[in-house]
Amino acid sequence: MDKQQAIEKVEALRSILNRYGHEYYVLDKPTVPDSEYDEKIQELKKLEELFPELITADSPTQRIGGEPLEGFSKVEHNVPMLSLGNAFNEGDVRDFARRASEAVDGPISFVCELKIDGLAVSLTYENGKFVRGATRGDGTIGEDITNNLKTIRSIPLTIAEKETLEVRGEAFMPHKSFTKLNEERSENGEELFANPRNAAAGSLRQLDPKIAAKRSLDIFLYAVGQWPSSTLTTHSGRLEKLKELGLKTNPEWKKCETIEEVLEFINYWTKERPNLNYEIDGIVIKVDNLDQQEELGYTAKSPRWAIAYKFPAEEVMTKLMDIELSI
Ligand code: NAD
Repeated sequence: MDKQQAIEKVEALRSILNRYGHEYYVLDKPTVPDSEYDEKIQELKKLEELFPELITADSPTQRIGGEPLEGFSKVEHNVPMLSLGNAFNEGDVRDFARRASEAVDGPISFVCELKIDGLAVSLTYENGKFVRGATRGDGTIGEDITNNLKTIRSIPLTIAEKETLEVRGEAFMPHKSFTKLNEERSENGEELFANPRNAAAGSLRQLDPKIAAKRSLDIFLYAVGQWPSSTLTTHSGRLEKLKELGLKTNPEWKKCETIEEVLEFINYWTKERPNLNYEIDGIVIKVDNLDQQEELGYTAKSPRWAIAYKFPAEEVMTKLMDIELSI
């Protein structure tokens, strides 16, 4: 491909990806399956690697999420809420592990977690009390959705110790709530939600908390933004401590000492995922040791100490059928 052809292709991809991004993040109403979005974004990334002079600051490859909606107060994240790099096959996962091992001293352990398909949120506790909840937004500025988050029963308003910390996790809609919601909407002649992720995002970004309250959302917490008093040295230690504090973590995580164990975890959940009562779209692999995480650091958009393995798009047809119902 010559440069002129690349310029045209890059422009065409950006234009369509910007439209998909707006539909997904701002309107909570995607019109194409995620796999199609992911393929196009990978294509754009490859072209930008071949022709780095074509990268622009506003390219969809340089963004993290959506813009905050008008109508909510804005919350500035003191520590940015980043996205994750993606892996689509075994080779990508092995590359990630190899790069990490080469960059740090000593052996590396990983923590594998389910990648919950919901909406990333941040919860702030001051002296043990829940004071603020926000969406990720563009990673730096999110929306203040405290009142909506308070309607989620699994978010404790007081935790077990008088800790001051900001925890992060994924708010999601369990399958059962999603089916019920769409049945009700269908009976009322209302537009159906394309998938549980969009239903969760749509519910939490309603200005009236009564709507969120009716939607039976849930949460799993999986990361810490700030925790000044903590002396924990591993991510797995933090997950255990969060649980002790009364914060809901997903029980299905595993500490893995080797890449083979990581791949086994991925294979297991690729088969088992239909048996969960919530949607997952992959497995997140994180370096366990926090000093090693720091050593590895961050790119502009994502940590170098974690990666999201995405399941192959086996559900494309079901998802497409769902989506056709809603457009
Ligand atoms: P991502 O889905 O690649 O992964 C990052 C996110 O994973 C985190 O921010 C967090 O919210 C979540 N996550 C879930 N479980 C986690 C765990 N245990 N630990 C850490 N993080 C966890 O990145 P993204 O920027 O949130 O969104 C991109 C996604 O949106 C892609 O899947 C893409 O296909 C989809 N998308 C689809 C369309 C469309 O039109 N269909 C448009 C835009 C984006």
